[in-house]
Amino acid sequence: MFQVLLMKFHDIHCHLPRNYFFRDIEKHMEEWIKKGLETIVSVSSEYRDSIRNIELHSKFTQIIPGIGIHPWSAKRNLTDEIKIQFETLVTENQHSVIGEIGLDHHFIDNKEYYIIQEEYFRFFLEIAERHKIPVNIHGKGAERIISEILTTYKIPSNDVLMHWYSGPKEVLQTYIERGYFLSINPSILAGSSHINVLKSAPLDQILTESDGDVKYTIDNERVIGSPAIIPKVMDKISKVKKIDLQEVSEILHNNLQRYLNIKSI
Ligand SMILES: [Zn+2]
Repeated sequence: MFQVLLMKFHDIHCHLPRNYFFRDIEKHMEEWIKKGLETIVSVSSEYRDSIRNIELHSKFTQIIPGIGIHPWSAKRNLTDEIKIQFETLVTENQHSVIGEIGLDHHFIDNKEYYIIQEEYFRFFLEIAERHKIPVNIHGKGAERIISEILTTYKIPSNDVLMHWYSGPKEVLQTYIERGYFLSINPSILAGSSHINVLKSAPLDQILTESDGDVKYTIDNERVIGSPAIIPKVMDKISKVKKIDLQEVSEILHNNLQRYLNIKSI
């Protein structure tokens, strides 16, 4: 008799507050859990998302709430009122991740926003440092600046995740040397240069993400990113790293535990 082992997987960066997921979350979760999903970090783009994520966590223990403001949403000054709102959310929800936070100097070309982005980014890093909570970072076009900013906070390297890295090779090398996590997503199935991140990073610094509901074109087909696609990403990781899929799954599981600071399995 063959015993089919369910391959456990995680999605370290998915936007569940978006309506596509949120309105049918029970149905989606049932499908993903059946496939072997153990954990999703559901990131926030804005305050409303953070509230939705906390609500989702109360329904599903597999969902870790992301609390934060995406750099694309960092367009109005960071007031004391906003600071208190987020500080309260984090204080009441310690089992969380700070994200999606960061800087974006690529898609956002109005430089007036860069100062505001940095203000938010530093505010959230300070919260993460103080509460000892992992961070989920977007850094498109600002990888070098992020690298410098991070040296000014006492955040342990295993608490730092760089999501969908696509910046300069030297900065990637710095991130790897510091021991940060790098999340690998379905774009590696679509011939993206993101595969170089997978090739460069040691397997014990890799996590997997869908960045759902981002869409990918894989084999001429438009696919909505969701945790359901992660097993294919793991299969590709196994091929690129030339490591047995079961072993890849175990290493990724251990990485997840380290990132979320979970001591026992
Ligand atoms: Zn995202």
